[in-house]
Amino acid sequence: MTSATRSGVPSATLHAAVEVEGLTHRYGRTEALRDVSLTVPRGSVYALLGPNGAGKSTLLQAAVGLLAPTAGSIRVLGTPVEQLTPAHRTRIGYVAESQRLPDDLTLAQYERWLAPLYPAWDHALADTLRARFDLDPSRRIRALSRGQRMQAALLCALAPRPELLFMDEPFAGLDAAVKDDLVRGVLELAGSDGWTVVIASHDLVELEPLVDHVGFLRDGRLQFSESMDTVRARYRWVEIGTGTREARLPSPLPPHWVRSEVAGTRVRVLLRQDDEATTQAEVRAQYPDATRITFEEVSLADVFIGLAREGRGQTSSQGVT
Ligand code: ATP
Repeated sequence: MTSATRSGVPSATLHAAVEVEGLTHRYGRTEALRDVSLTVPRGSVYALLGPNGAGKSTLLQAAVGLLAPTAGSIRVLGTPVEQLTPAHRTRIGYVAESQRLPDDLTLAQYERWLAPLYPAWDHALADTLRARFDLDPSRRIRALSRGQRMQAALLCALAPRPELLFMDEPFAGLDAAVKDDLVRGVLELAGSDGWTVVIASHDLVELEPLVDHVGFLRDGRLQFSESMDTVRARYRWVEIGTGTREARLPSPLPPHWVRSEVAGTRVRVLLRQDDEATTQAEVRAQYPDATRITFEEVSLADVFIGLAREGRGQTSSQGVT
């Protein structure tokens, strides 16, 4: 339960940029989200991950009020989403791959139209981004390529200096150099300024250096919502010098061994673990002659692959809770 402050505002709300409770959404017979509850801490960069069709875009659209959920509630910056006023909305940004832009305007015209609507519009940031993205402000938006449209959408979402920014596949269509610029320049700036950013993306390599919280959705259900450190600690790569001439994998494979490779006398395993001591003992039981057991941190992409495989029941019937 959330405790109340003297002003009567629940204390969790003060620290949360987004609070989702019991969110369910159905499109006709398709249940896109089922009973999802999560909290995005203020000032965090929160990655919403999950396989295709997991419900990420639906959740973001509900959080910005683009769709009314079938059940449940969402508060953004402390206010129920359905009660957001235009003034609240100037503090909240949204950028999505599927976003519509005014095709008949040039980028300069669009910026001139938007800027007065946002009290915190940052002209210097808009100039920096335009130069960084090499966007021609005199071109009509209709004439921009897919990647350039995404860049224009990002410029228009970042220049208002939102306190809370939702991004749905923000790297889609961007070339590798622009992705890198975006991550290093813009999003790191957002992090240092204390903005809260919620990103749904499959670009895990780009996300990795930015993210401090992760929520993982599968089939519309939230598997977990945790700090990146907690998530990373749950998985390890373990390399085993088996001490035999020809290494073999145990049969059957332990259910929490998500990926395994054999190379000569060595076995390399991506596994889900409680702690390293338990893993060590378990590996020893499998390989009593082991000459070496070493642990290695996993990447966000490794974690994603692990979770996706477990979800498909390839290695385990257990869910991650
Ligand atoms: P992706 O990673 O592929 O973009 P996602 O995690 O963002 O997927 P959603 O787009 O939220 O997933 O879709 C969740 C489920 O809802 C999917 O089964 C999808 O087919 C369905 N869905 C999404 N939008 C609609 C719609 N407008 N009408 C009907 N079904 C929809």
